[in-house]
Amino acid sequence: MENTIITRFPPSPTGYLHLGGARTAIFNWLYARHTNGRFVLRIEDTDMQRSTQESVDAIFDAMDWLGIDWDEGPYFQSKRFDIYKEHIDRLISSGNAYYCTCTPEQVDRMREEAKKSGGKPKYDGSCREKNLQWQEGAVVRFKAPLTGSTLIEDKIRGNIAFANTELDDFIIARSDGSPMYNLAVVIDDITMNINTIIRGDDHISNTPKQILLYQALGAKVPDFGHVPMVLGHDKSRLSKRHGAMSVTAYRDMGYHPDAMVNFLVRLGWSHGDQEFFTRDELIEKFNLEHIGRSAGVFNPEKLLAINAEHIRAASSEALADHLMPFLKEKGIDAEAGDYLYGVIETLKPRSKTFIEMADGAEFYFQEKPVYDEKASAKFLKPALLVPMKQLADGMAGLAEFDEKSLENIFKQVMEDAGLGFGKVAQPVRVALTGKTVSPGIFEMILALGKEKVISRLYDAVQFIEKMPAAE
Ligand code: GLU
Repeated sequence: MENTIITRFPPSPTGYLHLGGARTAIFNWLYARHTNGRFVLRIEDTDMQRSTQESVDAIFDAMDWLGIDWDEGPYFQSKRFDIYKEHIDRLISSGNAYYCTCTPEQVDRMREEAKKSGGKPKYDGSCREKNLQWQEGAVVRFKAPLTGSTLIEDKIRGNIAFANTELDDFIIARSDGSPMYNLAVVIDDITMNINTIIRGDDHISNTPKQILLYQALGAKVPDFGHVPMVLGHDKSRLSKRHGAMSVTAYRDMGYHPDAMVNFLVRLGWSHGDQEFFTRDELIEKFNLEHIGRSAGVFNPEKLLAINAEHIRAASSEALADHLMPFLKEKGIDAEAGDYLYGVIETLKPRSKTFIEMADGAEFYFQEKPVYDEKASAKFLKPALLVPMKQLADGMAGLAEFDEKSLENIFKQVMEDAGLGFGKVAQPVRVALTGKTVSPGIFEMILALGKEKVISRLYDAVQFIEKMPAAE
């Protein structure tokens, strides 16, 4: 237990889970899984104004879709105020924190003064040595060291030293007793036994303050690793202009969660030049050593390509669950089972997303295919009447509906009609799918099944028969 790696993901529920946040969650989760450690989920909802239940639900929904499970939690900071209070009192009685009654206006003036004399805008420590008792309106400040430096031994960026003179006696509790962000995070991480913190480098300025709090509380400082931000293609910080920001928007666009996980991990971590990773492979190979120091650039084409690869690699049974909601949206109530799996098998190599797959699957589930007008005009012609009928009759007589027997029937029909393969196959494709593009003709016929194929061929025969004779 002593050496167990314990990581955490502590989102603030003030919006959806965006790509950068999801990547942080995945890194912490993977590191815990890789080391047989533990992964804790904590909702940092102390900002009552900005936190919403909707965002909490969106975070759970996104974690669920990504397949990130947690061993402990979810904890909610809003339910832990007693714990924070106890630690704030402890810091005061040990002399590491003090009450301050300076008004915000006074503090503003101090900051102005400090700036004028060429320093950083800081609180000047007026109440530091006053030993004040609690009183209405008092905040609690941390008694930060006035000299020396604080070192972050960052697992990703190496050592970073901060001069303590850069810091002031920052507030740890507001006048209403509620904890400030840095305090709550540290108390949580201590009481939850977190020993490894991987987070975005936008938090790096908080880290020296947090380290000082650990030291004041006599707690062991955890390992920190600050991950560079995710950037857009133009190297500016990723924002809405670069595409969807919420991870679950990619679910709605037909992405596979494994592809999303793979893609996000590769935005900051590498294993040689390998691009494709299964979930198990990531768990096996992920480490902190190969998280890069430079920012990952979000490339939507790469995400699409990796998605296609994950679709190709998955079993049809596994893909069915992902595909079904998209079929439902089209009014198709496909049941999980051999027919659906067979359909998916034919579409796997040609679908980059589940939306494409659902589009491609439509004809398999229609009562009758809807002929594309141009396609039927071009391919369902009187010359095909006999070959089409002959194909249907031939298939009806088959005891074994398999590729070999289909090939034989096609050969015979082509020979009798004096037509090449394409001249027969393309009209058949239109007859069966309504379109000129579909999976390979034989695999498509086998997936569609004998009964549907024969009835669609006879329908096409009828369609041709009813055509007005050409003038
Ligand atoms: N709640 C913070 C955020 O959502 C994370 C704090 C941390 O990782 O220490 O950015």
